[in-house]
Amino acid sequence: MLDAIRIVLVNTSHTGNIGSAARAMKTMGLSSLYLVDPVSPPDGKSSALAAGAGDVLANAVTVNTLEEAIEGCGLVVGTSARSRTLSWPMLTARECGHKLTDEAKQYPVALVFGRENNGLSNHELQLCNYHVCIDANPEYSSLNLAAAVQTLCYEVRMSHLEKLNAPYVEPAEQEYPLAEDLGRFYKHLESTLENTGFIRKNHPGVVMIKLQRMFNRARLESQELNILRGILASIDKQSNK
Ligand code: SAH
Repeated sequence: MLDAIRIVLVNTSHTGNIGSAARAMKTMGLSSLYLVDPVSPPDGKSSALAAGAGDVLANAVTVNTLEEAIEGCGLVVGTSARSRTLSWPMLTARECGHKLTDEAKQYPVALVFGRENNGLSNHELQLCNYHVCIDANPEYSSLNLAAAVQTLCYEVRMSHLEKLNAPYVEPAEQEYPLAEDLGRFYKHLESTLENTGFIRKNHPGVVMIKLQRMFNRARLESQELNILRGILASIDKQSNK
């Protein structure tokens, strides 16, 4: 189950942090590391800091975009050291551990970390179902990247160990869409709303972000997403007449 939890590092500047993150993961039993467009690929410094977690580093998958890193995931949680202007469903570190271990039984899940200097972009944060903030000292809440990975992976491990000792419970009935299916739905919605004239082409303003936030908050199930796609298709059909 822990193998289904992907740790995603976006555009990391310091190769040492990649190694330290790999070590943090392995100590907590996690092994799936994705690197999105690292400033430099893992090097000797990464290996030195990975220490006994060289295997996690060697098996890391490098991709160009966050969209590629979360492909196939039914749950994506983004990390943020501070609250942003755009509010999104929030989890505490503990809730994040439980949510990831709950859902990793059904499909891959991702925990996404940002750049050392300026975190995750708004676009990247909007690709996530939830945001998690480690409740640190309000006067200085920005942890080192690998320390943040360590803290959240520890919560995952605690939740995992708790579940190993708990009686077996059937996974929840709902089936959630994968990240790429949600992405396709938002693109479809945008193009339909452009066709009807509700939003101007290439000038979606905040409408698309607000709609995305609303659908995200509802945590759409696969069947519900299919109904919405069907509604969009019926509107497309009408306006192409
Ligand atoms: N100056 C950046 C902080 C970057 S710290 C900003 O304001 O966003 C580098 C990364 O470590 C963050 O992108 C996040 O992934 C993680 N991180 C650091 N502190 C965190 C915290 N308190 N809660 C959650 N993630 C944190």
